[in-house]
Amino acid sequence: MVPGVRLVVLGMQGAGKGTQCGRLSTHYVVPHISTGDMFRVAVKANTEAGQVLAKYMEKGELVPDDVTTEVVKDRLLQPDAAERGFILDGYPRTAPQAESLTQILSPEDVDLAIDLEIPRDMAVERLASRRVCSECGTIYSSLTHPDGTPCDLCGGIVKQRGDDTKEAIARRIDLYQRDTEPLFDHYMRRDMLVTIDALGGEDEVFGRLVRAIDYRRGTKR
Ligand code: AMP
Repeated sequence: MVPGVRLVVLGMQGAGKGTQCGRLSTHYVVPHISTGDMFRVAVKANTEAGQVLAKYMEKGELVPDDVTTEVVKDRLLQPDAAERGFILDGYPRTAPQAESLTQILSPEDVDLAIDLEIPRDMAVERLASRRVCSECGTIYSSLTHPDGTPCDLCGGIVKQRGDDTKEAIARRIDLYQRDTEPLFDHYMRRDMLVTIDALGGEDEVFGRLVRAIDYRRGTKR
């Protein structure tokens, strides 16, 4: 079994983070921890907390840092993540979240923060055509899986995400550029940042990621 790894994956919405994080999680045998996915489960279950989260998510606003960090902390302390590591997708998204993550993991830290880099116009285009299985969350493109198509994996209905409207997409990307891009600095100062070109085929990008991660793990051992 490949030894575990602790990764933070940054990158503008539409860079392919969800897809690549899923593959990295299988490859390195560590849990894929996505705050967006965890929040969507709560929203779908229509719990009291889920109803509060939905208000932020529908508008493309960020959920408050303290709420988000509590959820992440609980998840990171579970044995699978604590023992083997994790692929953290969608967290941290703000400077206070990055500080909280460093504190949660202290005295250690993540092995690497990856910036999956994509130009804004390409991100907007990809998000507008993104379709997601309403049951298992598998991500498709509207070109191959228009609204109403059954999911290849579970047969669930494929549809557009509620927060992939034009306005919410623009809002989320604005927030990413304002709040999340400054985190590059946080990780660069700690010599933990690696930038990966997210353009190209899924396999090609995955190959770049694994090469970069294995190289950096090799040099740190
Ligand atoms: P995502 O699937 O990563 O695009 O996340 C969907 C939505 O969940 C975001 O637009 C936010 O409303 C919320 N969210 C996910 N992760 C975070 C986070 N780290 N901090 C605050 N809000 C978050």
